[in-house]
Amino acid sequence: MPLSVARRGIDFVAKNASNKGLPRFEVAFHGGGEPTVNWKTMVGAADYARSQADRLGLSVGLGAASNGVLNETQIEWMVEHLQGVSLSFDGLPDSHDRHRPLIGGAASSGRVMHTMRRFDEASFAYAVRMTVTEDQIQNLPASIAYLCENFRVQSIQVEPAYQLGRWSNAPVAETIEFIDAFRKARRHAVAAGRTLSFSAARLDTLTNHFCGVSQDNFCLTPDGNVSACYEVFSEQSQRAAVFIYGHPLADAEGYSFDESRLRTLRGLAVEHRTHCHGCFAKWHCAGDCHHKALAEDAGVEFAGSNRCHITRELMKDQLLDRIAASGGIFWHEQLRAESASSA
Ligand code: SF4
Repeated sequence: MPLSVARRGIDFVAKNASNKGLPRFEVAFHGGGEPTVNWKTMVGAADYARSQADRLGLSVGLGAASNGVLNETQIEWMVEHLQGVSLSFDGLPDSHDRHRPLIGGAASSGRVMHTMRRFDEASFAYAVRMTVTEDQIQNLPASIAYLCENFRVQSIQVEPAYQLGRWSNAPVAETIEFIDAFRKARRHAVAAGRTLSFSAARLDTLTNHFCGVSQDNFCLTPDGNVSACYEVFSEQSQRAAVFIYGHPLADAEGYSFDESRLRTLRGLAVEHRTHCHGCFAKWHCAGDCHHKALAEDAGVEFAGSNRCHITRELMKDQLLDRIAASGGIFWHEQLRAESASSA
């Protein structure tokens, strides 16, 4: 992505925030790969975002998702300029190296762990995103124990590998074995005072949308078009016609938006999903990842997925924890109605 593309996007978002009277806007460096590979644009965009925020009297939040294979300059820059980073790390070094070798085939876990140690020394806020393939499920508890023992990361998100992209032919990891391993892993995390999460099971979040796809997410592709989904960052993507909804104007600042696509995207909120209507996790999971659902259902109405079972089981765990923490007291509409009628 050239810097000019990032600057146009920042101009649009910053002006939008200012016009709406909002106090801040955010820039997240995500990338269809690794954002630090395009280092000049990343640093230039961050500088530009801060200058635009100053000019408009706003604050700006800067964050990134990274593979953690960084040099010292990049680590120091992130500590100084970003408010947080999400690092991809798959747990035990062996597990990580099996999935994420360097471009020449060498192991990358040492590099990522060096980054985490440097972030720890600087008390820098980072999170870990762990992807678990079917063959690594059994290692999940040991992976979480390893992370908690060796690093100060507070928040670890674990997801079974989506059968998309490089995992499209991998055996399914969204299994009962994953749920069992997650429960064991969570015990290690809780004992260490850390948070272990699965993205769709979030008891403390009440929402009608899983992510920003239905909320006018503004993600730029390298060519400068606007996508609603971080996963759809190329005009060649199979789902480009669903998620890419904006294009830069040829002879002026700003963008033109496809209103019809936007309406469809905004309609993806969970209340419009028939299959989710009776689900007790509905207002927490909020229909899960739309990109994944589309890939699985090939354009047919969503009919649930293996992830639904994981979500509900892990939601139940959280509910039971809350009930236990309250001394066994819980709210139940039927019991409430019965006790009211017998009073
Ligand atoms: S049915 Fe599945 S996708 Fe829908 S809210 Fe429930 S768990 Fe989430």
